[in-house]
Amino acid sequence: MLRCYVFVQGLKCLFCETVYPVRVGYTCPRCGIVGILDVQYDYARIGRILTRRRLAARSDQSHWRYRELLPIGSNAALPALSVGGTPLTSTPALARHVGLAKLFLKDDGRNATGSLKDRASSVGVVKAREKRRPIIACASTGNAASSCAGMAASMGLKSVIFVPERAPEPKVTQLLIFGATVLRVRGSYEDAFQLCQRSCGKWGWYNRNSGINPYLVEGKKTAGLEIGEQLAWEPTDWVAVSVGDGCTVAGVWKGFRELKALGLIPRTPRILGVQAEGAAPVTAAFLSGEPMRPIEPATLADSIAVGVPRNWKRAVLAVRESGGAMINVSDGEILEAMRYTGRLSGIFAEPAAATAVAGLQRAVAEGCVGRRASAVALITGNGLKDVQSARAAAGQPYDIAPDGAALEEILRERKLIE
Ligand SMILES: *Cc1c(COP(=O)(O)O)cnc(C)c1O
Repeated sequence: MLRCYVFVQGLKCLFCETVYPVRVGYTCPRCGIVGILDVQYDYARIGRILTRRRLAARSDQSHWRYRELLPIGSNAALPALSVGGTPLTSTPALARHVGLAKLFLKDDGRNATGSLKDRASSVGVVKAREKRRPIIACASTGNAASSCAGMAASMGLKSVIFVPERAPEPKVTQLLIFGATVLRVRGSYEDAFQLCQRSCGKWGWYNRNSGINPYLVEGKKTAGLEIGEQLAWEPTDWVAVSVGDGCTVAGVWKGFRELKALGLIPRTPRILGVQAEGAAPVTAAFLSGEPMRPIEPATLADSIAVGVPRNWKRAVLAVRESGGAMINVSDGEILEAMRYTGRLSGIFAEPAAATAVAGLQRAVAEGCVGRRASAVALITGNGLKDVQSARAAAGQPYDIAPDGAALEEILRERKLIE
């Protein structure tokens, strides 16, 4: 059993900095629920195995190609659904639009269930299986839930999912199709989170909440590892990531920090953490240097509508360590970014994903990111996940009669004909 953790050295509390053996529970026994644990690895040993040449020779394009950097056993059973290996696309027209020299989109909407959360859930189900828990549970605004349910289905586990009342219908539908027991909580995400916590404690289900489970951020960091490798080990100046709970941005940064520690990249990118104006407690904590203060979230970007982010500290530390910045954008800017991102790149981002692009545009306009800079925007989820918001952004088609009476007028208006 211990062979499973050949490269993991322990779990370190981000608050009191105590290092525990992997057998400890989800959070720090001393600090309680705020004591988020961080997985520590033996990078000296990993560095002798994970060289640029060895990685290039690996045929596995999924995120398990970085298995030495994941908290899973070398012979662990993995879900059959493929995760990671998502495209990194250069988007010159979009770069010009937001005012950057170079911009890439990392399209994580192309993961198995349509969001970056698959990177985390895939590790979650492996841990659940390893710990012999037949049921995995999670509270989520949508993507973590549908991802957890999909990965559980792929692995033959049962899933119990708590969603807040206003989770978008397509995400809830995904859950039902994947066979999850779906509990729609009449309340906020925070209410759903609390109920899930209590239920996991009571019935011994494996808890996939990335706010407390130390292993999920490890899956998310593979987005950073992939970006590094896809850019031929020369990261862009900036990497923009939208922030809800804070686990994703912290994970992506950890990926880059590890690539640097392993000598695979010469320098790390700066991280731009982007929040929606109506749900920005992490930005507030970043700017003030004070502990996070919970807020009542108000944004159409449901995936980042988090009022009590559990990973705020990890996120603040990550962005600061990267020499980066945090910025907020309005819902109007998010909808606009959905529209111009689609039009200029062919990539359909859900609101929380377009938030990263909107953040870059705002950061360039404010002079926080230079116009000569290069950047990656992490597209964390597919636009079809929230069609209602997309329709608000996209507008309406032209309704025309079958004889095409108004056709020429429309085509002229669209400048498609003279
Ligand atoms: C979860 C999610 C985020 C933010 O990740 P956090 O870990 O909550 O900060 C951003 N975009 C999408 C689409 C997500 O599903």
